[in-house]
Amino acid sequence: MRVEVLGSGGATTTPRPGCTCRVCEEARAKGAPYVRTGPSVFVHGPNVLFDTPEESKLQLDRARIGDIAACFYSHWHPDHTMGRRVWETRNGDFRGWPREAKRQHFTDIYLPQQVAVDFRAYLGGMEHLEFMQQRGWIRIHELRDGETVLIGDVEIRPFRLAEDYVYAFELVGRDRRLLLAMDELNGWVPPAEVCGADLAVLPMGICEYDPFNGERRLHRDHPVLQYEATFVETLEIVDRLEAKRVVLSHVEEVDELGYDDLLRLPGALGRELTFAYDGLVVEV
Ligand SMILES: [Zn+2]
Ligand SMILES: [Zn+2]
Repeated sequence: MRVEVLGSGGATTTPRPGCTCRVCEEARAKGAPYVRTGPSVFVHGPNVLFDTPEESKLQLDRARIGDIAACFYSHWHPDHTMGRRVWETRNGDFRGWPREAKRQHFTDIYLPQQVAVDFRAYLGGMEHLEFMQQRGWIRIHELRDGETVLIGDVEIRPFRLAEDYVYAFELVGRDRRLLLAMDELNGWVPPAEVCGADLAVLPMGICEYDPFNGERRLHRDHPVLQYEATFVETLEIVDRLEAKRVVLSHVEEVDELGYDDLLRLPGALGRELTFAYDGLVVEV
C-alpha cells in the first residue's frame, strides 16, 4: 500500500480567504507544499479514497489519480464531504448518445452505519448521493457496524471512535496494517487490536498551547476544548498506539503553523513524527 495525503488541512485551510497572517501569506507566495487543502487521503494499491473536501476534484487531478475502486466517508462534517460533486464531474458522460451508448462509469461509495444516518440528517448529504446514484455515477453501500469490505487484497474495517459518529479505518493487506483516522480523536483510547500498526495517519489535534514554547494559545474555557482533541492529547494517543510510523495531518490554519515550522517540530519535541503536507506519499 502507498498512502498519499491529498489534502493536509482541516476545517480551516491554508491560505484562508481574507487572512493576512504569516502562514497564509507564505502559502500564497510559495504555493505547494505551503498550501493546505481539505482533509483527504488516497491509498494506492486498493485505490481507495477517504473523504471528499471541497478541493477533492482538484486534488485528484493534481495527484493524477486514475482508477478509484471505492470511496469511504469518515463522518458527515462539511470539511470532509462538501466536494462530493466530484463523482458527477469525474464519472458523468454528458456527450454520449443514444442513452445505451453512454459511457458507464461509477464509483462505489461506502457509508459506515452512523455516517449513513447522519447523511440523511445533515447538509442534504444522502439526497445528493441518491441524485448521483440515480444518474449512474455512484453506487451507495451502507455498512453495518462490524462489517468489513475487501477491496483488491486489502480488508477495510471501519470502526467508531469515542466521538461515536466518526469512524476510523483499519486497512489490512498481506503483511501490512494501516490505521487511518481522518478527524475527531477527542476522548479516544486506542483499543489493543489497532495498536502496533505499520503506519498510523491521524489528525494532529488543535494547539491549546504553542507546541514550541508551551505558551497558551486558547482560552482555558474555550468550548472547542470540550469536543476537540488537543495536540498534547494526540501525542498521548500516539504513545499508546505504538505504530511503527506516525503521520499527523488535519493541520488547522488557525494554529498558524507553517510547513517549515512543522518540519522542525518533531526535532524540537524529540519525537519521530511526520507532519503531513499536500502530496506527501508514504509506503506501507
Ligand atoms: Zn475535519
Ligand atoms: Zn492565516
